[in-house]
Parts: sequence; structure tokens; C-alpha cells
Amino acid sequence: MGLFPVSLHGGGESVEISHADAALGSFLCSISKSTLELALTSRLAPFRAFVFPYVCDVSRNVEGIFSRVLPGAETYMLHLPQNFHSAATVPFLTAEYRRLIARLEKAGGEPYDPERLAASIELFNQQRAAIADLTATKRNEPGKLTLTESYLVRRLGGLLPREIHIPLLHRVRSELAQRPNRTKDAIRTLLVGPFCEQPTLDLIDLMEQVGCYIVDDELLQIHRWYDRVDPGGDPLTNLASAYVQSPVDIGVRAAPTTKGEAILRRVGAAEAQGVIFLTAKFCEPALEDVVLYRKALEREKIPYLHLEFEERSTSYESARLQLETFVESILFD
Ligand code: SF4
Repeated sequence: MGLFPVSLHGGGESVEISHADAALGSFLCSISKSTLELALTSRLAPFRAFVFPYVCDVSRNVEGIFSRVLPGAETYMLHLPQNFHSAATVPFLTAEYRRLIARLEKAGGEPYDPERLAASIELFNQQRAAIADLTATKRNEPGKLTLTESYLVRRLGGLLPREIHIPLLHRVRSELAQRPNRTKDAIRTLLVGPFCEQPTLDLIDLMEQVGCYIVDDELLQIHRWYDRVDPGGDPLTNLASAYVQSPVDIGVRAAPTTKGEAILRRVGAAEAQGVIFLTAKFCEPALEDVVLYRKALEREKIPYLHLEFEERSTSYESARLQLETFVESILFD
């Protein structure tokens, strides 16, 4: 529809909050405030449309405020299903995509064309496959690249045209093939929780500095929601089916009974020796999951550590101490 999709993950550590605090309570996650701050300070002027996935009440409220403060842009709250077993779920989501399309047509000025969407799905399939390859390298040969490197390459994927990002990922793959897998005495660790608000680079770096290999993570989950979407047939139904059938089990999917099994499966698949819960401060979906995950991990005697972060954290002394204790407790067990 003539639009270029960009993933916006808040304002990060460089945005000073001076206006958003007046509109949002102090007990809300940082990403909601820094995103709103970007809107209130005209930094989002180049964008013609904003799509908010309905992942929690906070995201719903931010969408409402956006529609008032940016009346010249389209804003849309994308209602994602929570019931994954009903026969009505895929038709519901397909209809929801059609409602979104009507708004995007207005913003982009070009009509929806199923053939162009199918071509776009094929492009995003290639991007997801290349990112899956990168994360598999981190899982299987964790000494080849740092978590920071893996994170930054993935993060570019939501900012660059995919036609540029895919060759970049291929270049990264061939350069990694030449790199030695320099292993050290480190704990294979699964990182859970930062699926929405993203931690600072300092904190991402710190986890590996103190002796963890983050062999699987929930950072930038957007690229890993599903492996492949079938581009044939009706592309909207295929997108909806892929969303509903995705095996990804994170805080914004409400299937509480499967959470315990899901975390144990992921620990097993990553051959992780421990789990770090790194949750954004005041993020309820992540915190609700932690309760369910902890029960399953305690039952299986798998060590875990829970840390909270904010986008604008600057001091990591307490986090460093807790991480070092976590690593030592596993190394010397
Ligand atoms: S960080 Fe958590 S609470 Fe904040 S918008 Fe994301 S899912 Fe919602």
C-alpha cells in the first residue's frame, strides 16, 4: 500500500522524558513513556500510520493518546486473538487485518493488492529464515558472536528495507563461518522476558561479561514469531493462521496452562543450564509469566535469576552482583 514498515521499540536510553510523564502514570513501563515522548516532541512526524498490537492495557492506552496527539496520522489498535483453539479465531483475525488494511490504504494512498502482499510475505520469509540461522549459530556455537552483535543485527531488521537487511544477514553468516568459536567457561543461559521493552546495550553486554552464554532469548520477538508463512492462496488467511498456529509461547499470548511445559521445552532445546528473567519494570504480562515459569523450573531444579530493568537504567552494580552470584552458584554447584 505504498508504506514502509518500521519496528519502533520505544525511545531507548537517549530520549529525555519531559512531556509523557504528564500523560502516563509513574507506575507504567518505560517503553510506553518514551514512545509517547517521541510523539509529543514531533520526532515521529515522518510517519503516516501507527499500528499498536494489543498486547496489554498500556499499549491500548498509548494508542488512544496517539490518535489524539497525532490527528494527521492513522493510528490503529490491532486486536490480536487470545483464544487459539476456537474455529472462529482465524476468521476473526483475518477480518481484523481487513480493517487494518482499510486504514493503511488511506495512509499509503495505494490500494491493497493480494499479489504484492504475497511477494512481501515471501520477502519476510527470507528474512525470518536468515534470522533463524543467526540465532541457531548463537545457540550452537555461542563463542562465535556476542549477544550484543546478534541483537544489533536483528534490530536493524526492523529498521532497514528488508531487501537490504537480507543480504546483510547473508554477509554476517559468511563472516561468522570464518570466525573461530572461542569458547570460555560460561553458563548456557536462556533469556526470558524482554519481548517488548528492550534492555540497554550495557545490560545486554553485562550478562555475557559476567560469564553467561545467552544461547536463546526473547529479544525482538517480532522476527521469530513464526518460521514461514505460506504466500499462496489468500495471504491474509495465511498470515492469520500463522499467528494462531505459532508455537511461540510468550507473555502476550494467554495460554497459562502451557507456560510451565513451554519454558522446560525451551530450556531443553537450548541445552540451557539456567534461566534469566529480564523483565521491564511494571510489565505485567512478563511478570505474570514469571510466576508460572518459576514453578516449573523449581520443580525441575533448574536455576534462575529474576532482574528488572528500565530503558534508561544507568547503574548496573546491583545487576552485576546478582549475575555474578548466579553464575558462580551454577559453576561451583
Ligand atoms: S513492556 Fe509490558 S506493560 Fe509495557 S507495553 Fe510492553 S507488554 Fe505492555
